[in-house]
Amino acid sequence: MPLRFLFGWITLIAVAATSHAALSPVEEKIVAAVRAQSGDFARDLEQAVQIDSATENLAGVRKMADVFNAQLSVLGLDTKFIESPAPNGRTGHLVAEHRGTKGQRLLLIGHLDTVLPGGNFRRDGDQAFGSGTSDIKGGDLVIIYALRALHAVGALADTQIIVVMTGDEEAVGRPVEVARQALFDAAKRSDLALAFEGAIAKTGTIARRGSTSWEIEVQGATGHSSGIFSSAMGAGSVYEAARILQEFYTELRKLDGLTLNPALIVGGTETALNRTGGTTAGKTNITAQSTRIRGDLRTVSAEQLATAREKMTAIVAKNLPRTSAKIVFSDGYPAMPDSAANRGLLAQLDQASRDLGFGEITAYDPRARGAGDIAFVSPPLPALDGLGIRGGGAHAPTEWADLKSVPELVQRTALLIYRLTR
Ligand SMILES: [Zn+2]
Repeated sequence: MPLRFLFGWITLIAVAATSHAALSPVEEKIVAAVRAQSGDFARDLEQAVQIDSATENLAGVRKMADVFNAQLSVLGLDTKFIESPAPNGRTGHLVAEHRGTKGQRLLLIGHLDTVLPGGNFRRDGDQAFGSGTSDIKGGDLVIIYALRALHAVGALADTQIIVVMTGDEEAVGRPVEVARQALFDAAKRSDLALAFEGAIAKTGTIARRGSTSWEIEVQGATGHSSGIFSSAMGAGSVYEAARILQEFYTELRKLDGLTLNPALIVGGTETALNRTGGTTAGKTNITAQSTRIRGDLRTVSAEQLATAREKMTAIVAKNLPRTSAKIVFSDGYPAMPDSAANRGLLAQLDQASRDLGFGEITAYDPRARGAGDIAFVSPPLPALDGLGIRGGGAHAPTEWADLKSVPELVQRTALLIYRLTR
């Protein structure tokens, strides 16, 4: 083939790769608007990550809200910071609303806080490092960049979209019903929810497990160790604790998708336990009077949680001779169960991704993902999570985000929002 014909073919192929047969003219404009602004993402991520907004750093969380507030309000959203109504050591949430009547009413969920203190941003090529890069400031910016592209082409007009960025996603304030009131209120005025926790490869999150913490206190008779096994001394608290844990392991493991993790245990003559540690004292010739255990329980649905609590309570109540035990549960995050409605949203994300030339999106293993804010609104709302930035190392000092993934993730989010709001 003469060289000039070959060049002609190459030009044709290049054109085909940048226009999408499956996109409408407005959708093509949205893609172009995303491309036009994508150069600023890394700079905005750096600015966000340099703000230390660990959950307990209330001034930092507030400052993070101010930055995102400014970026959302210029797009025509009404923004407000809703102060935490309870004196629970949390500051509050950023809520931004675009009012309209077109298509479905969307709730977009991010958060302002990080687990570890932040403030350090580092970049190595396409990798951005720092607390909050992928969990979740990169995801918050995916929301903002997608809305900005839609705004640039006039596609936000008359849409109903509420953005809620909570200030305490990583350690929800108590009572939970109060701490999540802003999210509940937004959900009442929405038809579906999208959340921007980190994207995992080419998947969407259609289910998240809920988490509940529990604590067991075991009491036994005490005295000289030589009396153990006798009817007067019984088994002691340590054997009773071991019995309980062994039965948890045998019985609760049978529930599909459930995990039950004893995390901390102290046993002896005197014991004390707090959120992250404990103390004990005892001697080998004394039967242990007290044993305490703390752990977490993760379940796929409210029904499974109820079943698990019932089984655990029954096991704890059996008791070896001369011992007693009680269990206290403390609900944290509910589960977001797998549903046809959630899978319907995933199908729409998959379609958007294919139409953009980015390929198939499948469901992430419904059992594999931990608790998240979206579960507070789903059920009842159809919901999809994992729309944020790709990366890794969440909740660890090695947290990072993949800046290469940004154009794809912002384009698909913008297109999905556009289609859902027609
Ligand atoms: Zn998160």
